[in-house]
Amino acid sequence: MDSLKIIVFCGPSGSGKTSIVKALLSIMPELEFSISATTRKRRNNEVEGVDYYFMSPKQFKSNINSAAFIEHEEVYKNVCYGTLWKEIDRISNTGKIPILDIDVNGALNIRKKYRDASHIFFVHPGNEEILRNRLKKRHTENDEAIAKRMERAVRELTFSEKFDYIIYNDSDLQLSVNSSREIIEKIIQTNI
Ligand code: 5GP
Repeated sequence: MDSLKIIVFCGPSGSGKTSIVKALLSIMPELEFSISATTRKRRNNEVEGVDYYFMSPKQFKSNINSAAFIEHEEVYKNVCYGTLWKEIDRISNTGKIPILDIDVNGALNIRKKYRDASHIFFVHPGNEEILRNRLKKRHTENDEAIAKRMERAVRELTFSEKFDYIIYNDSDLQLSVNSSREIIEKIIQTNI
């Protein structure tokens, strides 16, 4: 059997990592999205068990207590996100490679648990202005939430060099998708 591999995309909110991950999933049948748990409220366009496992703070806490998470983070004040062990098992059991879309601290924690099996991509938005414009254009957050996301994003940008690959997603999404795909294909072919 191939050795376990985990692909992780991290980077600030608004870096475009979710768009890259979605595009990769649509062209690479070898990959399957790792659905995270969150206490965030579901957005209108999101589906339970597809985008996230939406949980109450109490359910989330009980999962922490039963050691159900590989990693979990309070990414924003009172808003928690986490990767469940059973989600990675579910995907690995189908013979596919899990692809995670998580924050920078989450990625560092995945690295600690999985070491060389984890392949971590940092998606860099280019500059702060691009990031701010993308967050505004999404219309999913109010000004206060955008300000909080920006504050965190600026901090996260300083982490980029800790990861295996940096994807500069500043102008052309397709270019970022293509270069990510090339790297992932090499990872899949190399049996490390
Ligand atoms: P959003 O609320 O925009 O869906 O996600 C907010 C941030 O939480 C994003 O940076 C996203 O990648 C991150 N995130 C989503 N799932 C997880 C997870 O399971 N663990 C961690 N640490 N971060 C996550």
